[in-house]
Amino acid sequence: MINLLYKYFFLCLSMAFWDKHVETLPRDKLEELQAKRLRDTVARAKKSVFYGPRLKGVEPTVFKKPADIGSIPFTTKNDLRANYDYGLVCVPKDEIIRLHASSGTTGKATVIFHNRHDIDTWTELLARCIVMAGAGKGDVFQNMISYGLFTGGLGFHYGAERVGMLVIPSGIGNTKRQIQLMKDFHTTVYHATPSYALHVSEEMARDGFDPKEFDLRIGFVGAEPHSEQTRKRIEDIYDMDVYNSYGMSELNGPGVAFECEEKCGMHLWEDNYILEVIDPKTCEPLSPGEEGELVVTTINREAMPILRYRTGDLAKTLEGRCACGRTHVRISRIKGRCDDMMIIRGVNVYPSQIEDVLMSFPEVATTYQIHLLRDGSLDALIVKVELYPKMFDGDLAKLKKLEADIGKAISDEVVVKPRIEFLEPGTLPRAEGKAVRVVDKRCEM
Ligand code: AMP
Ligand code: ZN
Repeated sequence: MINLLYKYFFLCLSMAFWDKHVETLPRDKLEELQAKRLRDTVARAKKSVFYGPRLKGVEPTVFKKPADIGSIPFTTKNDLRANYDYGLVCVPKDEIIRLHASSGTTGKATVIFHNRHDIDTWTELLARCIVMAGAGKGDVFQNMISYGLFTGGLGFHYGAERVGMLVIPSGIGNTKRQIQLMKDFHTTVYHATPSYALHVSEEMARDGFDPKEFDLRIGFVGAEPHSEQTRKRIEDIYDMDVYNSYGMSELNGPGVAFECEEKCGMHLWEDNYILEVIDPKTCEPLSPGEEGELVVTTINREAMPILRYRTGDLAKTLEGRCACGRTHVRISRIKGRCDDMMIIRGVNVYPSQIEDVLMSFPEVATTYQIHLLRDGSLDALIVKVELYPKMFDGDLAKLKKLEADIGKAISDEVVVKPRIEFLEPGTLPRAEGKAVRVVDKRCEM
């Protein structure tokens, strides 16, 4: 009964706006604002060690409309790595109040800096997303995602507080406690990766709970690719609405694009970002509706603006106006990545990181393969490794020790615990041309 009352009460709040003026700005006004912010951003970016020489001779006044952005060179993840630590910062250091990093990266990570203005605008973006999906004051919000350097935790946390929700900063893991909190404090909205959302429901079932008997009415899921079927499955299991949330640390984190209640694509906040879609091979711009790599420019960030950032994410823009009344462009679900980055349990992992670890063990032969499977609702990482023949001399204890050592070294490096399988040399398929290092069967399962 309480559940029904909750749902009725919040139904009345639906179709709400956080910042209606900006969210429904006519296209011509929106583009005017973009052009102005682009000019300001270019002028500011010139102050950084990285962009200074790159933008030499480029006058901000040449950017009369957002489409003029094409004359600026792309920025890549490698540029960010090469200019670690403060190379892209364009404000005095004592103005910076926050550092974040891309998940899963080790060594020279991709770090992003924010000043007070940046944290405030990011918070506003999250507030917009939360209210757009029908959540708000009166909701109890459980943030079941990593806090810390990863942006999902603090980003959502600030946005949820701004709209006046009661925030439970439960972070990721400790699933039994998550369920307890959800039950005791009548959580109505949560944020999680889709795989963790499913994992929690399995744990609920194991503990004798029906996920539908909780007060949950909205789930925000993101940080990793997932299908429409996965959304539907989570919605059915919990009897709640699930909204897709897209972002990346380089562009703040969550709050870049988000679904409205129509659930037909994610609105990308164009007063803060300029979106382009390019062919990842030729770098040529694609027509609206064609699938390609998203290239995004931050136009409302002061401490560390990024111009024409190649996200590596594949998606397309959706045609036509959205029934919700918002004028900001919609993008499709992210299909995947055009580089080789894997997202395992929400953590970014590059095959080269695993290769580095493997190759540091002299017992390991030259060929390996990474297999990604589904273990229940969670991702499983299996590393198949060929060993030199001398290792197969019947000494099982030696193999067991090596298996444990490699497993530990990989999980230290990429934060995900792998299963190691040893093979005799020549067992794995050899490809003509590029070796197939990753076999991802998660979508087939
Ligand atoms: P990070 O920089 O650690 O926040 O990771 C960002 C990456 O996570 C993005 O570039 C995407 O590849 C992926 N990602 C984030 N949100 C989504 C989403 N809703 N759907 C698919 N992939 C996502
Ligand atoms: Zn909409």
